[in-house]
Amino acid sequence: MKKIIVYCEVDFVNKKLEEVSYELISKARSLTKIAKELKNEDYEVEAVALLDEIEIESVKNAYKAGANIFTLIKSDSLKVFSQTVFAQSFVEYFNQNKSDIIIFPATPRGRIVAPRITTSLDCGLVADCTGLDFIVRDDKLMFAPTRPTFGSELMATIISKTLPQCATVRAKTFNAEFIYEENDKINEFKPISYEENRIKLVKTILDNTPNEYDFSDAKIILAAGYGLVHNKDRKYFEKLEQIAKLIGAKVGSTRKVVDLGYMPQATQIGQTGSTVEAEIYVAFGISGALQHISGMKNSKKIIAVNIDEDAEIFNYSDYKIVANAKTIIDNIYEKLSK
Ligand SMILES: Cc1cc2nc3c(=O)[nH]c(=O)nc-3n(C[C@H](O)[C@H](O)[C@H](O)COP(=O)(O)OP(=O)(O)OC[C@H]3O[C@@H](n4cnc5c(N)ncnc54)[C@H](O)[C@@H]3O)c2cc1C
Repeated sequence: MKKIIVYCEVDFVNKKLEEVSYELISKARSLTKIAKELKNEDYEVEAVALLDEIEIESVKNAYKAGANIFTLIKSDSLKVFSQTVFAQSFVEYFNQNKSDIIIFPATPRGRIVAPRITTSLDCGLVADCTGLDFIVRDDKLMFAPTRPTFGSELMATIISKTLPQCATVRAKTFNAEFIYEENDKINEFKPISYEENRIKLVKTILDNTPNEYDFSDAKIILAAGYGLVHNKDRKYFEKLEQIAKLIGAKVGSTRKVVDLGYMPQATQIGQTGSTVEAEIYVAFGISGALQHISGMKNSKKIIAVNIDEDAEIFNYSDYKIVANAKTIIDNIYEKLSK
């Protein structure tokens, strides 16, 4: 049976899997169904985590998300992240347990370790994918990751000629679905050939400061676009920030307003910013460029306010409001501050 390995992102402090791991496991499992439908080929999903120990709840959740096997590459040297030790340990495991496909999370650590691993394995890597699929070409089933290209004007499907075929995918690109049977079986592997981790964990200090730009559990996002610029000042961006505070929402933005200095870079949503999945996403004065859409399209309800009734953003919206966003913000602000 062929295999898709999901390289799991871990929380080193709580010995857990990060949410993105479940998202990738669920996606990998859905790919196995596509392989079966298209070419009657059998694939299984193996979730691989590197850590000194793992809480059992994460293992159970990995199975529920769609893993057929859960492997822990286990060592005291994996207690703290080091790109060389992690890459070497994974490669050692992989060489004894080969797969056709490896999916990595495009997290800061995943982005460092994936190219080291693929260089060692002498194979290609498709980075920052927004879609994963199988296609049939020349009667062969091929793994077909898709990513934006040419300044994000086009989506390119890139097929690697070498095995394993590898891709990185950002958090929130896919949904995690916990629908499969629970299991707690761990396949343990102890790497031996890695070099000693030269990074020693001296102390763990948790950063408990609330991050106003952390969108990971944002229910409502009010997003500001260039349409809110007024006499070249921040008046409407500030009003939006105050409204967000009053209703417990987060403020997002487009790259254009970030580049022009109206909003901090951390608020940018889209291909080169954060990917979000809000319950409610309200776009104020945003045109709907593909690069922005790719970061917010998975939000549950999208409301767009734009003066241009043909604005592209409306093609992705559940509610279309053709109006001056500044007037709407003035009205909401006035009502809330009474
Ligand atoms: C490689 C690359 C990566 C990129 N990455 C990102 C990214 O991560 N995120 C991102 O957002 N962009 C990104 N961009 C930029 C993207 O292409 C767009 O330029 C940007 O999203 C446009 O921002 P905007 O919608 O705020 O501005 P505009 O495109 O100028 O749109 C402003 C909108 O406001 C409307 N409007 C004007 N006045 C009002 C008003 N009073 N009331 C209501 N509506 C009004 C207009 O009709 C218009 O639709 C990237 C571009 C490239 C090339």
